[in-house]
Amino acid sequence: MTAPVTASLTPSASPTLTSFTTIPDRLAGLSEVAHNLAWSWNRDARALFREIDETQWAMLRHNPIVLLQQASPARLAILASDPSYCARYDRVMQWLATERSDEHTWYARTFPELRGQPVAYFCAEFGIHNSVPIYSGGLGVLAGDHLKTASDLGVPLVAVGLMYRNGYFDQRIRPDGWQEDSDDRFSLDSVPIVAVPGVDGAKHLVVVKTFGRDIYIRVWTLQVGRVPVYLLDADLEENHPDDRPLLSKLYSGGPATRLRQEWLLGVGGVRVLRALGIAPAAWHANEGHAAFMMVERVRELCVSGVAYDDAVRQVRNRSVFTTHTPVPAGHDQFAVTEVAQCAGEMWKDMGISAEAFVRIGYHPEAGPNSFHMTAASIRMSRRVNAVSRRHGIVTREASRALWPGHTADEVPIGHVTNGVHLATWMASPIMKLLDKHLGPWWGHGQDPSIWDQVLSMDDEALWFTHMRLKHSLMRVVREEARRAFAQRTLETAQLVGAGTLLDPQVLTIGFARRFATYKRADLIFRDVERLRALVTNSARPVQIVFAGKAHPADNPGKQVLQNVYQFTRDPRFEGRIAFVEDYGMHLAHMLVQGVDLWMNMPRVPMEASGTSGMKAALNGVPQFSTIDGWWEEGYEGNNGWAITPEEDSDDGTSTANRLYTLLETEVVPRYYERDVNGLPYLWLTTMKNALRVAGQHFTARRMVEQYARGYYAPSILGDVLPDDPPTA
Ligand SMILES: *Cc1c(COP(=O)(O)O)cnc(C)c1O
Repeated sequence: MTAPVTASLTPSASPTLTSFTTIPDRLAGLSEVAHNLAWSWNRDARALFREIDETQWAMLRHNPIVLLQQASPARLAILASDPSYCARYDRVMQWLATERSDEHTWYARTFPELRGQPVAYFCAEFGIHNSVPIYSGGLGVLAGDHLKTASDLGVPLVAVGLMYRNGYFDQRIRPDGWQEDSDDRFSLDSVPIVAVPGVDGAKHLVVVKTFGRDIYIRVWTLQVGRVPVYLLDADLEENHPDDRPLLSKLYSGGPATRLRQEWLLGVGGVRVLRALGIAPAAWHANEGHAAFMMVERVRELCVSGVAYDDAVRQVRNRSVFTTHTPVPAGHDQFAVTEVAQCAGEMWKDMGISAEAFVRIGYHPEAGPNSFHMTAASIRMSRRVNAVSRRHGIVTREASRALWPGHTADEVPIGHVTNGVHLATWMASPIMKLLDKHLGPWWGHGQDPSIWDQVLSMDDEALWFTHMRLKHSLMRVVREEARRAFAQRTLETAQLVGAGTLLDPQVLTIGFARRFATYKRADLIFRDVERLRALVTNSARPVQIVFAGKAHPADNPGKQVLQNVYQFTRDPRFEGRIAFVEDYGMHLAHMLVQGVDLWMNMPRVPMEASGTSGMKAALNGVPQFSTIDGWWEEGYEGNNGWAITPEEDSDDGTSTANRLYTLLETEVVPRYYERDVNGLPYLWLTTMKNALRVAGQHFTARRMVEQYARGYYAPSILGDVLPDDPPTA
């Protein structure tokens, strides 16, 4: 048994790892590798697992814990006596050891004076790897990419989230296209999550009172490279039966459940860090769900004798808040009466009235009866940011009411455009190409100009690599359909719609995202005849692969999904429209790496950033989108296609017309224009530019460096900024 990496941060805790009886001593460290999710973005570590049993590895969707449980002792014995395997194993173990030290990282070099000063990062969901299903979509995956990058750069992040024992949900589509949602309960044995014991053998670590009852909270930990994640869990016998399932499901239940979840995340999360002896020097709330984290810190200071106004000032100075919500209706709000009951007279600790307490969440446009989580977070954070340039403008406008008498330009909210974790989202074969073309250090360099060299990459090598990824996407789609058919979860009539007729030679458009109505997945079906002509053109056909879940409570979203699904079964489209079930990080990987064009048609300005298009671009897959979110910054004219705001319309009619026209006159001809060697030389230029722009500007490395320089370090160092707290 090896000591887990979190040991140094958890003096009271000594979590135990699952032990695998079958692993030979020579390879004993494989268990440790499997228990740090850093394996998921290390090519050599992944290869060690894949080599144990390639078929099983794919079947298990890359879950090394289960793989090691099921591995045949004979196979492991062979590998233990294979010098090449052992040499690579030793290299991975050395790398894992360096993952424990933060001495030579970018952060240590840039901010030597900030060593050992942790930054707390709170988020309601974390999408780190498919095998740990505690995320629903974009926000969680972004948070996961943030942690991975913080680990790479040595930013001393400590993450706090919730342990959803029932995951998000599994998606099954009925033959009539209606989405059915089932629990996605995972076994604790199958995830690299370990319990943090409480004091004196107790299971719980902290207690939080809400709605008059004490809730005992147990904590689990998950290691993401250098970054520990602490996950709160209320499913303990000590708790009232009604409270035990409070944290079991992500974004489920009504506002009452959501409020309790957010209360436990914020208040409980702070108490957990205290119980572990961790003293963050800065605190980052990723989205308004974590606002109560700041309220609890104000309470702590007040209890220690600091006056309320002073306590707020101190908390503000060390707090960072990132908003991801594009429109006023999207912000979390609760009834002030509910919040007051939830808080259980916490205001008495703070030396203020109940009225003053609920005013923390006052937003003039939401009215005095709403506790607005974004307004509360803005009030309690000196440094606030939106997630793209365009979203910054929208957010300043939407928050203006908090600063009466000021123009939107004067609202002190900035932006840090989202980015994606390169080593997670770029396919290994593309990385290998870059190794060859840019030299082995391209991924470590800080000089963005290295990406200009992508433009001179070898056409043939890039095209064959892309085609290989496309073939493997289609093979997996077919295999999934075959398996579902054999298990009788897919009817014969559904097989075509599941993508079994997809052809790797055909221009393939990918559209995968949450089925919220504003994302307009069905826009491309506005004129069925015009689309049919494009799709079934015998010389230059087009195919489209859809994937995505609708939130279980979002019936309009489910209707859009049903609409799209029915077209997959429509013989007029000749099997060239597919819907692949159960969109998650696993499928996301294969889609962003294996389609030719990434489509996104959000109603402007509803997409705060959007990140899937960045993932696609890092694989040389250009995006076609309305100018919203990151595309407003990312579209350079030669790296994809755009529908401008003038061409977009509220009802989507002119948007759809423009979409068809661009496909007919630019996208399709470019794709099918080949040189004497059969290479789409014009399309390849677009691919290279997509890769260049994404590598230069849209990696999480750029994003986390911006947070570190502009938000974390100044918060810790107490850099002087004019303090402009909201006055409304
Ligand atoms: C990246 C990602 C998202 C977010 O994509 P958008 O472009 O913001 O819609 C959602 N779900 C999964 C599984 C992802 O990997």
